[in-house]
Amino acid sequence: MDAQLVYPVYSRRSEGISIGIDLFPDAKHCSFNCPYCEVHPFRHDHTFSLEQLTSELDAILSSYAGTREPVKDIAFAGHGEPLLSPYFIDAVTRAIAIKIKHMPEIPIILITNTLQLGDNHLINFLQTVRSQTPFSIWAKLDAGTPDQFYRMSGLKPESNAFETVKRNIITAGKILPLVIQTMLARYQGFPPTDYELTEYTKLIHSMLDSGVLIERIDLYTISRKPITPVVSPLTDAELIDAVHSIANHLPGKAIRAFGKSTRIM
Ligand code: SF4
Repeated sequence: MDAQLVYPVYSRRSEGISIGIDLFPDAKHCSFNCPYCEVHPFRHDHTFSLEQLTSELDAILSSYAGTREPVKDIAFAGHGEPLLSPYFIDAVTRAIAIKIKHMPEIPIILITNTLQLGDNHLINFLQTVRSQTPFSIWAKLDAGTPDQFYRMSGLKPESNAFETVKRNIITAGKILPLVIQTMLARYQGFPPTDYELTEYTKLIHSMLDSGVLIERIDLYTISRKPITPVVSPLTDAELIDAVHSIANHLPGKAIRAFGKSTRIM
């Protein structure tokens, strides 16, 4: 039987093979509705089970162990927001046990939009994970202004999600180091404005001043066909300009940047 929950992919931001874990094989489940999302709506009969995760992850990691193709990480990503899954904690616990058996040194990555990241029980669990194995949280933050945030998340301002995201990043990031993930794209044909880039760096500064542990910032543009044509990728030249504008205001901060097809910084 083909694997349904565990899949190897070449990941631009992992710069190699990443083993993805999908907690949502039945349909997309996400608390955001980003116009640039690569997960198109679908419906399958498949359901998630810990037993299936265990057997698929064990099989895939043993098939890569000892090969010349290094696995860079195991990423909780898949068809939506991993923290919405009721299986998240059990699935991470299983994944750690299997990973330690085959590839103890590679990190587990949680890719999250942060809307559910502020929960204390969850943060305590993630602290325990971090004490057991290499672990990294890739936290989405696409904007420094409410307008840009609601455009890029597809959420309504009435949701107050921008405030929740900022609060959650501060709550979790004071305890757990975060790798900030920021999508930079054209929206209705226009790249982010200087004002938006400045407000973004101000927001990062305010988070750092609040004690948020920002390990690195990854800036990237669209690489695959998005759900709607309202967004489109920045050219490498536009991305480089935006990256310099951000980096100049955040001296000493580790920043990586990924163009449509390759890493540019
Ligand atoms: S948070 Fe991720 S999965 Fe959810 S809509 Fe945005 S890009 Fe898609």
